[in-house]
Amino acid sequence: MKSIALEHYLHDKIREKIASDAEYGEFIGKRGIEPIIRQDVEAYQFLQLRKALVYAYNKSSFYHAQFDKKGIKPEDFKSLSDLAKFPFAEPMDIAHNSYAFACVSQADIARAVTFTSSGTTGPQKRIFFAEADLERMTDFMAAGMKTVALPGDVVQIMLPSGPPNSQADLLGKGVKKMGGAPILVGTAPTPEQVKAIREFRPKVLFGSTSRVYRLTKEAEVTDDLSDLGVKVLFTTSEYLSPSMRENLKRSWHADVIVHYGLTEMGLGVAVECQSGDGYHFNEADLLLEIVDPETGEVLGLGEEGEMVFTTLNREAMPLIRYRTHDISKLLDKPCDCGATSMKKFAPTTRRKEGVVKTKAGELYPSLLDEAIFKIPNIVDWRAEFVKDGAEEGLRIQVETTTGTEVENKEIRNALLEIEAIRQGLKCGNLKLPEVEILASGSLTRTARAKKLILDNR
Ligand SMILES: [Zn+2]
Repeated sequence: MKSIALEHYLHDKIREKIASDAEYGEFIGKRGIEPIIRQDVEAYQFLQLRKALVYAYNKSSFYHAQFDKKGIKPEDFKSLSDLAKFPFAEPMDIAHNSYAFACVSQADIARAVTFTSSGTTGPQKRIFFAEADLERMTDFMAAGMKTVALPGDVVQIMLPSGPPNSQADLLGKGVKKMGGAPILVGTAPTPEQVKAIREFRPKVLFGSTSRVYRLTKEAEVTDDLSDLGVKVLFTTSEYLSPSMRENLKRSWHADVIVHYGLTEMGLGVAVECQSGDGYHFNEADLLLEIVDPETGEVLGLGEEGEMVFTTLNREAMPLIRYRTHDISKLLDKPCDCGATSMKKFAPTTRRKEGVVKTKAGELYPSLLDEAIFKIPNIVDWRAEFVKDGAEEGLRIQVETTTGTEVENKEIRNALLEIEAIRQGLKCGNLKLPEVEILASGSLTRTARAKKLILDNR
């Protein structure tokens, strides 16, 4: 039950390299290998990066063109910081031609995932994984699960059921790798989830933030959730506001740990550190840079910017300097969870395209989450920003739990805690938020779409 499970994964992967490749031994092992310190991690990452660059240059038409465009070759990279010389890859580049990224033949693609990352519109991206990629992904999922579970523990996986090697299936394999017992329940309605919890007694529930929250709000009307033996709620895909976290903890008497994942980066990326305020991430397989979203300049520790990842071990589809559009920062504080050689990044509260710019300031979903979910009877919300003549304002629908009364006024008051809304009203830039209360079950989501404030101006 320690955040350092991720560090063990990182160190094991480095030791594997040292044992199998003389170059690593020479580079890293000079001091006698143990203990592995930050300097060794970066030496390993540099060797992996150099290999990844040579591989992408030789195998992918997209990357070959990126090198040529800049007039550089893989051997021009002499340190990790040289990575800044390389051009970014955008989600749109993948949407335009995912095959140009591929480094293996179609026959060697074990799994292709097609998806749209922000909401239900926008171009679709196709991401390819080879067998070896999937193997490594489940290794990391096992390490992530070890941060919250022990061998023998039951883990209820509440992700959409899919074909072999779907996210749910891979996580199930990851759970088995760490000695746990996965129960795959899909996104079944709340009564079925509760029935499975009673039958299988999972210690961990894993699901999207909105699914876990809905389960909690719907089930607590009839059940005492603290009785069910669940010790950890492991949430993914969406931001978890402090108010939601408090409500979840109170209902289940359980710990709440957040996972940060991206399909492009191999699904699993980072797990919230148990000492709080940030995530340790998969530094064996990923490099993280924080860059200025406008200029692309690499930022230092503690500076907020866009997360840019580079894969270090990907076979089918390496991604070099891939822009996530998620905003975060690298934290410079040493961590008191026990990890000594890993970095940490701050919770991502917003995505670039998820920000609605109003005359009074920025609005984005996590601000609404924090304000709205302070009211305990709310299950979910849907919002749009609209223009009515000269007036702009927020229109929000909220779903409440069965048989509970929430006043429009209560929600409006909660929304006034958001700086942009309060200021907008004060200066006459925004009209009063329009609130509509919906019955239980109205906003049930089937897809994995991320929360969004629709900008309908
Ligand atoms: Zn930590």
